[in-house]
Amino acid sequence: MELDELTLNTIRKHKDGVFQSELWKEMEIDSRKCSRIVTKLITDNLVIRESAVSNGARTYLLKSVDDTKASYDDLLAGDVFSPCAGCRDACQPELCDKLSDWILHLVNLEDES
Ligand code: SF4
Repeated sequence: MELDELTLNTIRKHKDGVFQSELWKEMEIDSRKCSRIVTKLITDNLVIRESAVSNGARTYLLKSVDDTKASYDDLLAGDVFSPCAGCRDACQPELCDKLSDWILHLVNLEDES
């Protein structure tokens, strides 16, 4: 198995993502080589990278695109996107009409199937 594929599999193992600063240690490769591989995986649209902080140091959180798609699916009730995605309202979920309506829509969808 090639190093690119091993790296992708290692990232996929971490369902909530893995810090790049930990990935190269886990893979037992040097950080520069890891960075080159990650750049290639991003270019190939297999991995996404977000700025992050780990142990007070800036790094990147890496996630496989497959996991990202799965988590987007969790935000959908049929074709209706969760109102929480991108919401900037003062959040009180137990009092939120938008969230209640979305959950009701989700329940209705399950009743129909
Ligand atoms: S629960 Fe309501 S207020 Fe809170 S994030 Fe979701 S939509 Fe926004």
